[in-house]
Amino acid sequence: MKKVCIVGSGIAGLSCAIECAERGMEVILVSPFPSERAQSVLAAGGINAVLSSEGGDSIESHIEDTLKGGCYIAGKESVKGLCEDAPEIIKKLEKLGTVFSTGENGKIAQRAFGGQSYNRTCYCGSATGKQIVTALVMECRRYEGLGLIQRRLWTDFYKALIKDEKCYGAVFFNEARMDLEIIYADYLVMATGGQNALFGKTTGSTLCDGYAQGRLFLQGVELKNAEFIQYHPTTLETQQKMLLVSEAVRGEGGRLYYVEDGKRVYFMEDLYGKKGNLMPRDIVSRTMERTGKEIYLDITFLGKKEILKRIPEVYDLCLKYRGIDISRESIPVSPSVHFFMGGIAVRNNHETNIKNLYAIGECASIYHGANRLGGNSLLAAVHGGRVAADSISEDKSETDVKNFEKDLEEERRKLSTRWASESEFPVVYLEDLVAETLKEDLGIVRDEERLLNGLKDVDYYLSVVEKLKYDKSEMPYLGFSVTGILTLAKVALTCALFRKESRGAHYRSDYPETKEEWQAATIISYDDGKFNVRLDSENVYES
Ligand SMILES: Cc1cc2nc3c(=O)[nH]c(=O)nc-3n(C[C@H](O)[C@H](O)[C@H](O)COP(=O)(O)OP(=O)(O)OC[C@H]3O[C@@H](n4cnc5c(N)ncnc54)[C@H](O)[C@@H]3O)c2cc1C
Repeated sequence: MKKVCIVGSGIAGLSCAIECAERGMEVILVSPFPSERAQSVLAAGGINAVLSSEGGDSIESHIEDTLKGGCYIAGKESVKGLCEDAPEIIKKLEKLGTVFSTGENGKIAQRAFGGQSYNRTCYCGSATGKQIVTALVMECRRYEGLGLIQRRLWTDFYKALIKDEKCYGAVFFNEARMDLEIIYADYLVMATGGQNALFGKTTGSTLCDGYAQGRLFLQGVELKNAEFIQYHPTTLETQQKMLLVSEAVRGEGGRLYYVEDGKRVYFMEDLYGKKGNLMPRDIVSRTMERTGKEIYLDITFLGKKEILKRIPEVYDLCLKYRGIDISRESIPVSPSVHFFMGGIAVRNNHETNIKNLYAIGECASIYHGANRLGGNSLLAAVHGGRVAADSISEDKSETDVKNFEKDLEEERRKLSTRWASESEFPVVYLEDLVAETLKEDLGIVRDEERLLNGLKDVDYYLSVVEKLKYDKSEMPYLGFSVTGILTLAKVALTCALFRKESRGAHYRSDYPETKEEWQAATIISYDDGKFNVRLDSENVYES
């Protein structure tokens, strides 16, 4: 029986675990926290699929919108697979217990999201992520009962076991025992989500820090499109984080405006017409930033009854965390880091450049090109799990075992030299510093000077980090993860400096045009201590 170790138990990890179990494989699903704390539960707006051609929608249109939204650097074949699988995915999620909102005809209701030609976003009120996670967890439990899935909590990824460009499992940090341990597996699937913590206060979870991607990069795994970071245009600042004001609000007719000479200026509609508020996120965010004004989002005209029916969670969130009753007043909004189009480079079957090492969900880069359309990432998380499970179950190559116990001892020794019982260095400061640097130098609008400045700062942090000792009792995970996190920050800055054009979420004020010769993915690798960046014009990752 093939043994698959999946790292991360958000929607991508859960989906892959279930699909592998369905195909008779043994699964170990590892994460530091239960699925209910994964960032996936925050997803509010919905999941895209063409369910009917009645209103004129088609799978071809979904494919074209996705490719266009991604500024034509996502692979056509992978996007085709994603959109074709979408109706089947909705059926399956519903069968597993996801309660989708329905229209008056009793059929699944679909709303408009940015960059879409038709209403194709299925939703569960404004708690789509929670509903899907709950359904998948229940199914996972069933397979746990059957002995096919084993869930492991309080366990953090440390490094992959790689020999001769092939993966054999991973080393983990067991938080209960405060020690490293090996899990051997025929296949390792990374599903560790995005990199929000790199930017401090964002819409996402601080548990998504990108450490795994950074560490894998240092182990020879190629990363892709790291410069494409999506700023969500409508977020609401609170003490702890930027609250997402879901695109569903604009999908339900919400209007963006600023006030000039006592009058409202609906700037997106003035610039782009009726659908202006629902332009792709990169365009809305940049336009908002350019106005230099306080921006507001108005949905009051919908009335409380409809608001409570269609976007109840947005109503609750604004009231609870900022005391704003959105049925009576406009919401003050600003753009904030939200989603990462870049990540681990994978082929169409979700395998990386290392044999038997896969990546799925937000930590992988494949479907979204230069900019993701709302509703497409939940879809990609579920679909990626299915594709990886298919590929693994069909793989006929021999599985073999290697012994890594000596390496484990070496890692234990290295780690113990990093820990001091009474170190007073608060390692979280480094996270704060890198977040400040990235916000300043890798923002919505970039230029060479700022990017070089950011690189200089991150290089400095990297030069000190190796010399620091960490208090093991305080934050064991941060102590070893910070190098990986900083490495990923350097990767993103390096890729942003490399791409001398503007495309999707990557806007360079010194290279404002989109150029044909850059219509390709950015691939970055680590060889002999150096960061090497290239354009993948031959589409090696599209096969
Ligand atoms: C506020 C918000 C709203 C959103 N709304 C929508 C929406 O309406 N529609 C849509 O399509 N998309 C939406 N998204 C995006 C979407 O939710 C994510 O892209 C998707 O859920 C990612 O799923 P995932 O399984 O890849 O990652 P996650 O759900 O982030 O799961 C990652 C898993 O990896 C684990 N992990 C992390 N690091 C480690 C480590 N070092 N070792 C071990 N495990 C680790 C975590 O604990 C977690 O279990 C939204 C995102 C946010 C932040």
